[in-house]
Amino acid sequence: MRDFSADHRWLSLNTATVRKQGDLAEIIEACARHGIRCIDPWRDQVAAIGLERAARAVRDAGLELSGYCRGGMFTSDAGHRIEVRDDNRRAVDEAKALGAPCLVLVVGGLPQYSRPGSTPSKDIAAARSQIEDALAELLDSARAANMPLAIEPLHPAYAADRACVNTTKHALDICDRLDPQRSGAIGVALDVYHIWWDPEVLAQIERAGKDRLLTFHVCDWLVPTTDILNDRGMMGDGVIDIRSLRRAVEAQGFAGYSEIEIFSNAWWQRPMDEVLQTCIARHRSMV
Ligand code: ZN
Repeated sequence: MRDFSADHRWLSLNTATVRKQGDLAEIIEACARHGIRCIDPWRDQVAAIGLERAARAVRDAGLELSGYCRGGMFTSDAGHRIEVRDDNRRAVDEAKALGAPCLVLVVGGLPQYSRPGSTPSKDIAAARSQIEDALAELLDSARAANMPLAIEPLHPAYAADRACVNTTKHALDICDRLDPQRSGAIGVALDVYHIWWDPEVLAQIERAGKDRLLTFHVCDWLVPTTDILNDRGMMGDGVIDIRSLRRAVEAQGFAGYSEIEIFSNAWWQRPMDEVLQTCIARHRSMV
């Protein structure tokens, strides 16, 4: 396993971590100040300053990307299908323009939450099959653009509103069905927040192998968690054995960035420089 204790060259910042403290241009400037070489920006943050300006800021700062957040939300009623398809094709194009190595996908839960305005449904099996169909369709455009798709399995608490692909096994089953030849066109985004509790996680990481492990996200699970979406912890403040999970992905040959992604009402209150300093210190001591 790589030694992160001496520097933070393999730290990537998911820009949602400091989304309340500044716009994407300000976050990129802050990364330069702190010697952070890599980011994973969100679509709304890119849209807020404009795709062209965002791409230029990334280039001018010499930043790499560890992903682009995010596509997906594939579940909808029939009236919203074209919107879903076009929205995801645009996400692929944006990821390409920004130089991202993959498009991270949060696949969607029940249609009324994934695509508001859709006719309500309780049929989670139908939602799951719709997700697979939409992924197969998007994979054609993604292959044409040479943009790998990274399915992010989410903790089951998000099954209704964000993603009903909830385990690494489920995500890998989909990858195997859509890409049996393991071409590298589709894989997984593994986030310790979503996978740490899973008794099968180490076996599934081994099954994934290097070609399916597209990106790796870190933060921590606080006890108690007061908000299921926006109370993620700084690495070291919770109960996740982050290092064991990093060891497992690196044992498969993953040699990419360790991306810090913290949605936290508490950390969003702190100054950007303080958050980044803490991220760097914890990356070295806890990741
Ligand atoms: Zn994540």
